[in-house]
Amino acid sequence: MSLVLPPDFGATPKRTLVLPEDMTKLLVQVCCAPCCGAVLECFKHHQLEPTLFFYNPNIHPRAEYEKRRDELIELAQLLGFAYVIPEYETKGWFAAVKGLEHEPERGKRCTVCFTERLTATALYAKEHGFSHFTTTLATSRWKNKQQVDAAGMAAQEATGVTYWSEDWRKSGLVTRRYQLVKEFNFYNQLYCGCVYSKESANHIKHVQLPSAEELSQSAQAFAQGQRNKEQRQISAALADCHC
Ligand code: SF4
Repeated sequence: MSLVLPPDFGATPKRTLVLPEDMTKLLVQVCCAPCCGAVLECFKHHQLEPTLFFYNPNIHPRAEYEKRRDELIELAQLLGFAYVIPEYETKGWFAAVKGLEHEPERGKRCTVCFTERLTATALYAKEHGFSHFTTTLATSRWKNKQQVDAAGMAAQEATGVTYWSEDWRKSGLVTRRYQLVKEFNFYNQLYCGCVYSKESANHIKHVQLPSAEELSQSAQAFAQGQRNKEQRQISAALADCHC
């Protein structure tokens, strides 16, 4: 085990957490350690003992899947959370997103991807006596919470298990998330997970920015501003967990 508990672990900024009234047993769909560090710390503080469900057939290639899975397992063991790792079976996921390969992130492919993962989570919850399920999918600033919630509600309707739509970004959890990513020194993911998001990340990486010499005198000031902006966006995309 290489993960070490940061000295300030436990200092969650989310001191108030209103639980669903009738919640007896919680299943949490987790996509990776960076996305769930601050949420798990919050659970610890509020003495919740959910089971973590690492169901992510969207992640490719297998080596990337295993890296994220193994880090999640390590974190769950370090923090003492129960976890479930379903079989890595990708055919169903590819069939579900067929025809949506060229959709942008936050587009229709992501809606299908979220719905597929959260429906599988809700089905597992139903079969194993969980009253509620939630997800860490919307903790990242790359994700659209409304889109994730809509998928959660669709999974609830399909299975009858209640989706807990807590906002895991509020009350300082975004800042805390990035602090913990650094303190734990989590693996730095460069793309969301699927092969299509990897291709767009590679495209960003290889964008050729214009050199100063290529810029005409009159356009220099404007272009330099644009160049800096693009450079910042690319740096942010590459430095941040993109899950
Ligand atoms: S970009 Fe991310 S959320 Fe969207 S389909 Fe790919 S893996 Fe799923």
